[in-house]
Parts: sequence; structure tokens; C-alpha cells
Amino acid sequence: MNEFDLVLPSAVDVREVGMRDGLQIETPVPLDAKLEMLEALVATGVRRIEATSFVSPRAVPALADADQVAAELSRWPDVHWSALVANARGAVRAIDAGVAHLEYVVSAADSHSRANAGRSTAEAVGAVPEITGLAHAAGGSLEVVIATAWDCPFDGRTPVGRTVDVARAAVTAGADQLCLGDTIGTTTPLRVVQLLDAVRRACPGVPVGVHFHDTRGTGQANALAAVQAGAAQLDSSIGGLGGCPFAPGASGNIATEELVYMLEESGVRTGLDLDALLTAARVTEQAVGHALPSSLYRAGGRSVPRALAAG
Ligand code: ZN
Repeated sequence: MNEFDLVLPSAVDVREVGMRDGLQIETPVPLDAKLEMLEALVATGVRRIEATSFVSPRAVPALADADQVAAELSRWPDVHWSALVANARGAVRAIDAGVAHLEYVVSAADSHSRANAGRSTAEAVGAVPEITGLAHAAGGSLEVVIATAWDCPFDGRTPVGRTVDVARAAVTAGADQLCLGDTIGTTTPLRVVQLLDAVRRACPGVPVGVHFHDTRGTGQANALAAVQAGAAQLDSSIGGLGGCPFAPGASGNIATEELVYMLEESGVRTGLDLDALLTAARVTEQAVGHALPSSLYRAGGRSVPRALAAG
């Protein structure tokens, strides 16, 4: 190895979360436009897509059509579809609608857990066995997404040991997979590596993914650090969709096309095609009716054709 090599795996899984984390704060997008987005996303080659969430339609009106979206997913049988649920009732709804790979959020910080879900972290962990049982009985799986894994808007920094304890408890309760969420987009590469390492040691053999928001411009650096530290899956949203157009500073997930560009150009295979991602970003921009934050999309893709760049 040359002293300036990056030590990276040859491939990593990318999960597209724009349909859920991106669209949930948008003005509701009609079903037809969502299906056009899905068609364009599947054409990028991505094989893990978070399709929607089964939560209260009053709380998230933009995803009130979860059942209708789920009913269309069998069009694309080679995609690993997942949906977010907030409790066992949502899990039953998701499974009845045909989605058995579930994501369930537990906030590592008590204040965020109470504000977001009306219960403590321990109470949220307490629901894992029931939801796991439902998912497994339906032939699916349960991923526990640990929100505020690094920082909480109310409690400040989340101690590494606290997030590790939640991870261990979730796995003991039956979770098949974990995801560490930087809910407010504050973490940085060193803390990413430290937490990922601690969680992976505490939960050997359990895939651990990461979910970054690009609120402070550190999203891509965090993603690269996570890949180096053995993250099994990276969440991203097409065009960097997410955040709120009416709340300055609230920003979306890391942009899928930026993540794929960075990884593929660094020798890490994702299976996603950059040109198809730019097409999907255009379809998404039309669906939501406003400009997307992705720098790469605004720049129009690669600056030089790949053949020239390689020569
Ligand atoms: Zn998020």
C-alpha cells in the first residue's frame, strides 16, 4: 500500500430514503408523481429503497398514501423495499400492505424520544420484541434506527455509551440490523468512526448502517469516514431532498448522486449509475416543484467525460 492510499472496501450498499425522509416534509406529492419517482429511482440501479412510512396520516400528511404506494411495489420485485413504522400498529399496517422489512426508530436521547414519540428511550426499546416478532412472522426483518445517535437538539451530546447501550438492547430484543442516525446533522468524521467502532464491537455480526443529514456541510466527509469504519449501508436521498423550504438551516439527507460520485470515483462500487441519478433528480425536482439542494445536480454531473478523465 502506498502511503497516500485510502483504505476503503470494494463495495457498499446505498439505500435511497428520499421517498420517505425526503418527501415527508414536502407538500403532498400525488401518487402518480411518486410512482414516476420510483420508476426513475429503480432505473438508477439502487436495490434498497425506503418506500414510505406507516405512521399517523395526521402527523405526516405527505405519506398518507402509504398503502397505495406499497400496493405498487411488486412492479419491481428485485428491490429490497422497506418502510418506517413508529409502533406495532404501524408494523401491522405495513405488513398488511405487503412491506415486511421494517425500520423502527428509537431515539438514544430521552428528550428527543419524548418529543418525537411521546415515550422514553427505554419504553421505545421495550416495543422492539413485538415489532420484531411481527416482521419475522411475515418473512421480513427489523432494522432499529437509532435517532440522535450522536447529538440531541434538547439534551446536547449523546454519550457514546448511551448509544451503544441502546444498540445492544435493540439487538438483544431481536433487531436484525442497526442504523445510526445523525438526526440534526451535527456529527463529524472522528465521532462517526468512534461510535461506529463502539457499536460494531458491542454487536458483532450485526450490520450497522448510517444516516447522515448534510446540515453543516459534513455529510459527505461523514459518509466516507463511515465507509472506512465498516458501515454496512449508507442512507441518502435523491437530490439531497429533505429539510424544510420554510425553515432556513433545516436540510436534507446527503444527496445520493453526490455520494455515488464520491464513492465510485474512489473505487467503491455502489451499483448505481450517475447519469440515471441525474435523471431521477430531475423527475424528483418536478414532483416537488422546487429546486433541490444537491451541488452535483446543479453542476450538471461530471465536469469531464469519464473517458477523458481516465486518460
Ligand atoms: Zn433523516
